[in-house]
Amino acid sequence: MDSLRVRFHCSADQSTRTATFSRVDGEYQIVDVSSAPAATSHATWSGDELPVNGSFGTSATYVGCPGCGSDGFVCCGSCGGLSCWCTREEQFTCGRCGNVGPVSGGITSIRALGTRPIRELGGGRPELTA
Ligand SMILES: [Zn+2]
Ligand SMILES: [Zn+2]
Repeated sequence: MDSLRVRFHCSADQSTRTATFSRVDGEYQIVDVSSAPAATSHATWSGDELPVNGSFGTSATYVGCPGCGSDGFVCCGSCGGLSCWCTREEQFTCGRCGNVGPVSGGITSIRALGTRPIRELGGGRPELTA
C-alpha cells in the first residue's frame, strides 16, 4: 500500500479530519491533512479500519495541522486515535478522548481507514424520506 488515510483529531478545535500518509523510503510520512473537518458521519464512522504496522514520520512538505498549525502528530496511548501535537511540547492532549500525557517512543502501528473512498462513507447512503 503506497498511501494511507487515517482519521486525525485536532486537540485545539476538536475536529476530525483525514490525514494522508505516503510511503517514502519504507516509512509512512504524513503529507497532508484535509482542511475541512469531516462530516459527522465520517467522524463517528466505525467501519473498516485496518492496522498498518511500520514506521511513521513527517514529510518535509507537511505544513501542519489545519486546525492549530501543530507540526507533529501522536498516536494516543489511551484511545489509539491520531492527534496533532506541537513538537515543542513535551506533553500532548488527545483531540479525540482528551487524554493528556507525555510523548514517548515512536508510532509503530496505525489504524488506517478502509479502502473505500472517503467521500462514499457519508454520501453513499440513500436519503431518508419521511
Ligand atoms: Zn491541531
Ligand atoms: Zn485519545
